Amino acid sequence: MKSAEIREKFLKFFESKGHTIVRSSPLVPGNDPTMLLTNSGMVQFKDVFLGLDTRPYSRATSVQRCVRAGGKHNDLENVGYTARHHTFFEMLGNFSFGDYFKRDAIAYAWELLTKVYGLPAEKLTVTVYQEDDEAYDIWANEIGVPKERIIRIGDNKGARYASDNFWQMADTGPCGPCTEVFYDHGADIWGGPPGSAEEDGDRFIEIWNLVFMQFNRDEAGNMTRLPKPCVDTGMGIERLAAVLQHVHSNYEIDLFQNLISAAARETGATDLESKSLRVIADHIRAAAFLIVDGVIPSSEGHGYVLRRIIRRALRHGHKLGQAKPFFYKLVEDLDKEMGAAYPELTEAKARVAEVLRAEEERFGETLENGMKILEAQLAKDPKNLDGATAFTLYDTYGFPRDLTADICRERGVTFDEAGFDAAMEQQKKTARAAGKFKMAAKVEYTGEKTRFVGYESLHHDSKVI
Ligand code: ATP
Ligand code: MG
Ligand code: MG
Ligand code: MG
Repeated sequence: MKSAEIREKFLKFFESKGHTIVRSSPLVPGNDPTMLLTNSGMVQFKDVFLGLDTRPYSRATSVQRCVRAGGKHNDLENVGYTARHHTFFEMLGNFSFGDYFKRDAIAYAWELLTKVYGLPAEKLTVTVYQEDDEAYDIWANEIGVPKERIIRIGDNKGARYASDNFWQMADTGPCGPCTEVFYDHGADIWGGPPGSAEEDGDRFIEIWNLVFMQFNRDEAGNMTRLPKPCVDTGMGIERLAAVLQHVHSNYEIDLFQNLISAAARETGATDLESKSLRVIADHIRAAAFLIVDGVIPSSEGHGYVLRRIIRRALRHGHKLGQAKPFFYKLVEDLDKEMGAAYPELTEAKARVAEVLRAEEERFGETLENGMKILEAQLAKDPKNLDGATAFTLYDTYGFPRDLTADICRERGVTFDEAGFDAAMEQQKKTARAAGKFKMAAKVEYTGEKTRFVGYESLHHDSKVI
């Protein structure tokens, strides 16, 4: 089943259960200055859950574009290392605003997975919050999931991606237990069931999270029952597609295979399983959609998340031997894959390519020179990268810190983070001392006409940051 069909079937199913189909909101949340980027389907409904906003419907369903590459949820470091994490992904979701609760939410999820998508029930394992007997009973007695495949999860802080099954929007406010559905990809893949010591592996892959908002937590930590409990669910379409297309890794699904081939075409790489191609295919999605939603590369905030993603992709291109701009050419391929579902991408694709190309040109030369400096340093000390060199790469050659750290990780090199911080601190002090001079420089530039405001501030800097 192709991704397009999976999307369609999800929305149609929930529509048939009385849900209103709501379009994806942009990646930059309009209603929440505390949240950097949209990281789940509930973001556009946050105020509805909080009772601050109302909608003409009490059931909704959406396919939400999400980015987890900064802030509270950051999966950037996982891309290329796990089979299931992306920076950009699409979250299928259904929501109840004080309408149905656990019983229907669980029954819908099960019906959709096993009847509509036809997943074999015996491949599914579910988790519930340790104290949530209600959810446990529904799975065991109403749905009929055998008890050995219902796992109670408490605070399992040991594993890297540990499930904890208690969800909260913030320190105070709506919160509640969740129940998650995992798919077992088979004994030949390393990993154990949720809650086990091998949970970090990729054998049991979490596909769906059903959150039951039933409490309100006050400042003192007291929890009271909400008068109208709500449901918020999220399922990554790429993970579901991997299951339905009988592959293990998300990178093997239809949507990614074409992008990976396109990345190979543009970089000259021949090994289609290479990690670098996967990273590039992941990053073109995140970068393009961030630009569609109005973000442009810059040295802070949203723009810096975007810049870090682009530069990581370019570094992987460089590693594959492509020193010329190539990344922007993938926009056309991405549009072929996703333009039908996201007309806003098709509409913006020329601008997206232009923004990417400008960033590629800007970083291209310093990337090449920076890599030479890095190689020279590593030739001297193959096991450690000192903070001063890493800072020079950052400050003079525009290598974001995480990009340098990523290269080090790849090569088993220890990166002196503390040394980097110290060099950064020192530079800030020097900059403060020179503050007056900088102010004067800024005034001179204010007369310039600009199109993309973000670039302009860069041209003013003597250094590429
Ligand atoms: P994991 O434990 O695998 O990191 P999660 O518990 O952080 O996932 P949730 O916050 O529960 O994920 O999000 C709901 C669903 O969204 C997940 O069950 C999964 O299908 C999908 N999802 C979450 N993060 C990613 C990601 N980085 N890339 C692709 N899909 C994701
Ligand atoms: Mg996660
Ligand atoms: Mg999880
Ligand atoms: Mg989860």
